[in-house]
Amino acid sequence: MNEILNNIILVRRRIEAACARAGRDFGSVRLLLAVKTVDVQRIRLAIEAGETLIGENKMQEFALKNPDLLDLNYEKHFIGHLQTNKAKDIVRHGIDCLQSLDSVELMQKLDRALLAAGRSLDIMVQVNTSREASKSGLSPDGVADFLRQLRRYDTLKMKGFMTVGLFDDDTEAVRRSYTRLKMIRDNAIADGLIAPDSNQLSMGMSGDLETAIEEGATMLRIGSAIFGARIYNQPLNQ
Ligand SMILES: *Cc1c(COP(=O)(O)O)cnc(C)c1O
Repeated sequence: MNEILNNIILVRRRIEAACARAGRDFGSVRLLLAVKTVDVQRIRLAIEAGETLIGENKMQEFALKNPDLLDLNYEKHFIGHLQTNKAKDIVRHGIDCLQSLDSVELMQKLDRALLAAGRSLDIMVQVNTSREASKSGLSPDGVADFLRQLRRYDTLKMKGFMTVGLFDDDTEAVRRSYTRLKMIRDNAIADGLIAPDSNQLSMGMSGDLETAIEEGATMLRIGSAIFGARIYNQPLNQ
C-alpha cells in the first residue's frame, strides 16, 4: 500500500522535472489515474492521498467499483472505448467526462440520455493519432467534420482531445502521435471549430509522460507507474 503512495510521489517528481525542462508550469498538467484492474482499496488509498482524477475503461468495471467509492470526492472520467448502447450508463452513473467520444451515433445517444436527465457532459474527442487499426478514435482527417457535427449538441461540452499514443520504445515515433494531436487542436481552434478554451490534451502514459509534456499534454493518464503491473481477473470490490 505504501508503495502506491511512494509511486505517486515518484510520478509527481517526473512530471515536475519534465515541466521544468519544457519551461512549463507544474500546475498546467493534471494527473489522471488509470485504474483498470485496480481494486477499490487501492483506488481509495490514492484518492485519500489527494488524487482527484480517476479514469475507468469499462462500464462493467466502473459499475462494480463505484458503489464502494461513493463517500469519496473525485472526478470520474471514462477513458475506454464505449459502445453506443452504453451511452445511457455514462449518464446514469454520473460520469463527469467522457474522453473517448469518436462516433456521431454515440453523440446522438448521449444527447438523448442527457436531455432526459437534464444535464450536460464534458467530453473529449479521441483521435487515433498512430493510425493503428487496433486503436479506437477518429482518423485525423475526420476530425474537422466531426467537430462540425458536435456543435449541434449543447449537451456535450467540448473540453479537448484525447489520444492513446503509439506504444513503442522509439521516443520519436511516440512523439509524432502527440505532436499530431496538438496540431489537430491548434487547427481546430484556428478554424473556429472549437472555442479557444476547449484546448485540453489528454495524452501520455507511464512510459512516455515526459514526451507528452514536451508536446503540450494538459492531462496524463497514468496506470502502471502508480499501481504496478496489471493483474487481470482478480476481485476488484473487496
Ligand atoms: C491503461 C490506460 C492508460 C495507462 O497506461 P499505463 O501505461 O499503465 O500508464 C492510459 N490510457 C488508457 C486509455 C488506458 O487504457
